Amino acid sequence: MIDCEVLICGLGPVGQLLALLLTDLGVSVIAVDEADEPYPLPRAAVIDDEVLRIFQAIGLDAAVLRDAQVQKTVTFVTDRGKKYEVLRPAHGDLGHPPLVSIHQPSMEHTMTAALDERGQTDVRWGTRVETVDRAADHVDVYVRPTAGGRSSRIRSRFVVACDGGKSFVRRTLQIPFGGSTYSQRWLVLDGLIDKPLAKVPHPHFVGDVKRPTVSLPMSPGRHRWEFMLHPGEDAAPFEREARIRELTAPYITDEQVEFERAVVYTFHVRRAERWRAGRVFLAGDSAHLTPPFVGQGFSSGARDAQNLAWKLEAVLRGAPSRLLDSYEVERRPHVTSMQNLAVRWGGVVQTANPAVGRMRDGLIGLAKLTGVLSIIREQVKPLPTYGHGAFAERPAKLPFNRSVGSLFPQPERIDVQLGNRWSVVADSPAIAKAWRARGVASICSPVDPWLRANHCEWALLRPDKFVYATGDAGDIAAAAKGLEGLLGASLGSLVPNAPAPSSPAPESAAAVAS
Ligand SMILES: Cc1cc2nc3c(=O)[nH]c(=O)nc-3n(C[C@H](O)[C@H](O)[C@H](O)COP(=O)(O)OP(=O)(O)OC[C@H]3O[C@@H](n4cnc5c(N)ncnc54)[C@H](O)[C@@H]3O)c2cc1C
Repeated sequence: MIDCEVLICGLGPVGQLLALLLTDLGVSVIAVDEADEPYPLPRAAVIDDEVLRIFQAIGLDAAVLRDAQVQKTVTFVTDRGKKYEVLRPAHGDLGHPPLVSIHQPSMEHTMTAALDERGQTDVRWGTRVETVDRAADHVDVYVRPTAGGRSSRIRSRFVVACDGGKSFVRRTLQIPFGGSTYSQRWLVLDGLIDKPLAKVPHPHFVGDVKRPTVSLPMSPGRHRWEFMLHPGEDAAPFEREARIRELTAPYITDEQVEFERAVVYTFHVRRAERWRAGRVFLAGDSAHLTPPFVGQGFSSGARDAQNLAWKLEAVLRGAPSRLLDSYEVERRPHVTSMQNLAVRWGGVVQTANPAVGRMRDGLIGLAKLTGVLSIIREQVKPLPTYGHGAFAERPAKLPFNRSVGSLFPQPERIDVQLGNRWSVVADSPAIAKAWRARGVASICSPVDPWLRANHCEWALLRPDKFVYATGDAGDIAAAAKGLEGLLGASLGSLVPNAPAPSSPAPESAAAVAS
């Protein structure tokens, strides 16, 4: 007998998010974690607009933003103390601020509370996965209370390993975790503050070659510092209060700071050799580790969760299993590009050689003079597009040219109306009606700039809001047939679309129906 459709091993932020996404799609989930409760100390410091849009899909964007601070800019300070604005993320059209400081435990609390509130997911803390046995049509997972006791079996259709960088599941499946570990160690300090630091109102990367430093506001009432340790430097004294006060003194005016944590980390750049073994998938840190310099560790895991959730649901409802192969095909190159960005930026920040530091600072000054910096600072993040995967046609080669394969923008919070399943944005009532007649939710957006720019009358969006197909009136029948092939079901038989849970009422005039 099957106990659940998906077993999630690990209730870090990626496992929690996946549990919510799957539960909202009607998938039965058991989620286990060997810890007794979510990890209580801060790790991730920032998330982006793509992740907030995913939170919106489960009705939690406003709750996450309540514990967050929007960051409009990022400063780089040269070795001689000159300041440059190196990031001013252009407000994309995803409907959310592009850079937001968070407090990971508060964000996780928001998710665990939502899981409790929904009451539909079987959440088991204090439960360790000990064995994973794969069969043709199910997976048997043996778990045991972490505190000790009898082992029991959970049989599920699929397993997703969200069990972090040291993933037990990945190791038990003998999947290599290739890549490298930074030789640099970083002292990470988290402080509780009585008011925002006047000298550091937004993230600062300090290219002091004697002690490369990152200093940034987290959620309200919190501030983080990261100080690079040099090879051979003894870490222990850096975790003592007196040394911590000395290091942070230049950043503090009259604010009161109480340090809640000092820990030395080594960062990794790693990717699992494969992210699928039959019915078992890796997601989040178990599949890839990214250094934190551009805040993309959890953010990449959040994208994994959303990518995997709708595909698992589709396959559980009859879609061919090969749809699940597109998970890694789509996500791996995107994760790699985020890792590359983090490594490049890490290289800029971690410079400890005075000559290299002078050259770096000179180049940044030149980039400012020539205007290159103002282009880079708005466009630095890889675009949310996929070059291969589950799309009606092969996306264009160059990311900037992609319509199919790209994340549809979100003017006026249209996701609220599009719901969490397949949907269409159409440029006329007739086209919207034609799609609705086929069972696909559609909104009419007569002057939609994206449709105009991409010379099409409609865009068919996957549940994760990536564009699956585009066309005009004459292409609807063929696209609908193609989608039925992908899903292995007639569109009329699909579960009806539903608005995102607890989302605010739509303000736009566009009409929706399914
Ligand atoms: C200093 C630092 C700064 C960071 N900054 C950022 C940032 O700014 N932005 C960002 O996006 N990311 C950042 N990250 C990364 C981010 O914190 C991680 O990517 C994220 O926590 C990974 O989530 P996860 O759910 O994949 O894994 P984890 O959070 O590691 O969760 C794994 C869970 O699996 C459980 N588990 C393990 N083994 C078993 C088992 N056998 N059985 C049952 N349960 C098990 C564990 O108890 C744990 O709860 C940072 C990380 C660090 C350390």
